[in-house]
Amino acid sequence: MHEQSIVESLLRLALDNARKGDARKIISIHLVVGDYTGVEEDAVNFYFGFLSKDTIAAGARIHYTHVPAQLRCRDCDILFPLQKRDYRCPECAGGRVEIVGGRELYIENMKVE
Ligand SMILES: [Zn+2]
Repeated sequence: MHEQSIVESLLRLALDNARKGDARKIISIHLVVGDYTGVEEDAVNFYFGFLSKDTIAAGARIHYTHVPAQLRCRDCDILFPLQKRDYRCPECAGGRVEIVGGRELYIENMKVE
């Protein structure tokens, strides 16, 4: 899985932010995760606990906001949610689609003290 490197960079970012704000401890981190990223909460929690152990982020809680995967048909110009890995347009059954939502992965905000 790719969660370990994702969590590494998120943690680095969180620690940088905390340092800039002279924080002594990170209480919680609010993450926005697009469903298309395939990132699993359990894996993120696991790696976060493991990687943050000796940092000021140790014990921080992670809150998740999920963004559903959304596609757009280039022919009909309609938006539709990705369901069961079916990438065809529900209008024209065509395959000329692009991903317009669900790739998000970022820290929305965090609580420090
Ligand atoms: Zn279409």
